[in-house]
Formats: sequence, C-alpha cells, structure tokens
Amino acid sequence: MTILVKLADLELSGKTVLIREDYNVPIRDFEISSDIRIRATLPTLTKLLEAGAKVIIISHLGRPIAGKYDEKFSLAPVAKCLGDLLNLSVPLIKNWTNGIDMTDHQIVLCENVRFEKGETMNNDALARKMGRLCQVYINDAFATAHRAQASTHGVAKYAAVSAAGPLLINELKALTKVLRNPETPLVAIVGGAKVSSKLIILETLLEKVDQLIVGGGIINTFLKAAGYEVGKSLYEAELVETASKLMKQAKANGCQIPLPIDVICGKEFNEETIAVTKHISNIETDDIIMDIGPETSKQLSKLIGKANTIFWNGPLGVFEFNQFSQGTENLANSIAESDAYSIAGGGDTIAAISKFNIEDKVSYISTGGGAFLEFLEGKKLPAVEILEEAARAWRAMERAREL
Ligand code: AMP
Repeated sequence: MTILVKLADLELSGKTVLIREDYNVPIRDFEISSDIRIRATLPTLTKLLEAGAKVIIISHLGRPIAGKYDEKFSLAPVAKCLGDLLNLSVPLIKNWTNGIDMTDHQIVLCENVRFEKGETMNNDALARKMGRLCQVYINDAFATAHRAQASTHGVAKYAAVSAAGPLLINELKALTKVLRNPETPLVAIVGGAKVSSKLIILETLLEKVDQLIVGGGIINTFLKAAGYEVGKSLYEAELVETASKLMKQAKANGCQIPLPIDVICGKEFNEETIAVTKHISNIETDDIIMDIGPETSKQLSKLIGKANTIFWNGPLGVFEFNQFSQGTENLANSIAESDAYSIAGGGDTIAAISKFNIEDKVSYISTGGGAFLEFLEGKKLPAVEILEEAARAWRAMERAREL
C-alpha cells in the first residue's frame, strides 16, 4: 500500500483545510443519543486549529433526498454539540459549495453533504467545487471509505493536497494487522442474518483463520446443509450447497466450522414468543431458531479461549429480543475476558458491544460497517485508493521541489 500523506507531513499554518468527517450520528427528536463519533474527531480538529489552519468540516447524516433540505437530516445538532465540546462557536453553513467567508483560526461545519445534488453520484462539478474550497483536503471518515462519492472520492482529484486523517489511518492499520499479520491462532466469529451478505467474507476468512465460528441466521443454512431440520428458521435454500462446500473447504484447510449442539427456539418471530432450549436434533417443523444454546456457548467460549487474535462481525442470535440475546452476550463476555487481540466491527456488532458494555475490553472497534467488511474481503476502498494516488503525486512534487 502506498504510504498516505498524513497531517504531520504538511505545513498547515494559514491554510484552509477541508476535512471529511463521519458525523452520521444517531439523532432522535433533534437530540444526539451518542456523541462517540464527534468526540473521536476532537483531537484532530484541535490540532488543526493549533497549527493555524482554518477548518471546514463536511459530513453526511442519514439518507436525505438529494437537492432537498430536510430538517430531520440537518447537522445543526452536531454543530451545537461540536461547539460545546470544543468550547468554540462552530457555525453551521447552509450554502457552502460556492465558497465560505472565513476568518483566521475559524472552524465551521457545512450542512449535510447529501443535501447536495451529485454527492452520492460522485458528480465531478460538485467535487471540483469542494476541491476549490480548500488548500488541503483530509479524509478522516473510514466508515464511508467504500463509497466513491464527491466528498470521499471526487474532491481528492481537485484539492491541491489530499491527506488521510488519523482515524482513517488507525482503522487501516488495525485491519491490516488482522488481515496480513495476525498472531495465531486466529478465531473469526461471523454472525448476522444472511449468508448471502457475508459470503465473500466467509470465503476470505476461511483461507486465513484457524477456527471459523458461524452464528445467527447464517448458521441455519449450514445446519440445513448438514441435514438438520431448521423448521421455520431464516435460511437461504439457494445457498445450502455453498454452505456445504464451505464446510468441506474448511475441513480441507484443517479448520472447522462447528455446528451448534443446542439452540433457543420460539414459535413466532417476536419478543413475546416462549423461548425453548432444544438439542439440535430435536427441532420441529414450526420452530424458529433465534439463538445458540448454553452448551454451544460453552463450546464457543473454549474455542475463543485458545485464540491469540479474534475477529468478530455479526450477532449470534436475535440479540435485540432479550430472551434471544444470551448467546451474543456470552460471546461478548468471552471476548472481553480473552487476552487475545480482538477486533470487531459492523453496525449490529457495535450495538451488541455497547448493549453488553464491553467497549473498553475489545482491542479495536472499527467504526465502519460496509467499509470494514469490504476491506477485509480484500476489496480496494475507493476513498483510500484516491488518497494513495494523491500521495504518489504529492511525493513526486516534493521530490521535484527538493531537486
Ligand atoms: P447483519 O446485519 O447481517 O449482521 O445481521 C444482524 C441481524 O441478524 C440482527 O438484527 C439479528 O437480529 C439478526 N439475526 C441474528 N440471528 C438471527 C436468527 N437466528 N434469525 C433471524 N435473524 C437473526
């Protein structure tokens, strides 16, 4: 990987810096319910201001209709929160694409980039306007790095200098460590709803892990492939054969995909249904498997105990319903108790980590969902690729200047 341009490489005094942050925070009734993403950016923003830069922040929030202002998706609560945390005034700029009047050492937040027509389409004219706003563009939003949009990709073609922020660099470092140089045994846990959305990651991990633990709705397709009854459980008939192949491939690689010994079922997919623990060979045709059972949890905990590196994506059951959350909670506790280097990511995984209060016991929590998976699948992230291109151009210019 080309070494990206970092803040430390740049002279920022008096420069206007456009920084792409990820302020896609949960907001209910115009109140921010978790400001973790905003807090994470404070050290960098402070550093930029201390270095004498004028700082323009851009971010998206949710999925508004392009070209249409909608208060529900306004970054106004973020501007207020940021101002309070920095103890500074952080004006929210509504019309910003054609230029912003700024004073020295000022910091401003632009209104939701996705209100702009062309943002999600990576429109060239919009990207050029963004590039003209600044002398230095910094991308520090890993969670959007798998999307080529005007504020994550196109802008880097037009800004004079494009660099990677520390949050983005840290994410890439942590994920590269697991992907390229993990301390073994490496145990991966992949849960969630469907095999189809995790197929590539399952195939990629099979080549790297010592143990692959599959859970959640995904395991039902594997159970079916092994000849078990899964009743009315969520499973993907068209992927039964693929699951069977993956199990055979695992065996050939000397690793296993363990099947559960017991599971917790209900008759209806809701929170009120009666939860019954069953041996895996006793599933009835009207059962819905919604969690792993206690014996299976014990087995998984032993496997996790042997790991030196743990990768986790996706819950092991319908953890949103309390009576089907135990398997995911036991897994979270096993990871928390382990001395292994652990890395976890994905929207539902982060929600589970926070529900079971193990945030400070996981070595690295990735902020990216799609970007996290795509990077681990070995795909190139467009926002990182363009920063690599920019870094090559910047280094060539620096060398020419030195001659
Ligand atoms: P994903 O986004 O693919 O990681 O899927 C997360 C979702 O999978 C969560 O909302 C869980 O409720 C759901 N899930 C986990 N286990 C099951 C299961 N056995 N049946 C149906 N959905 C499940």
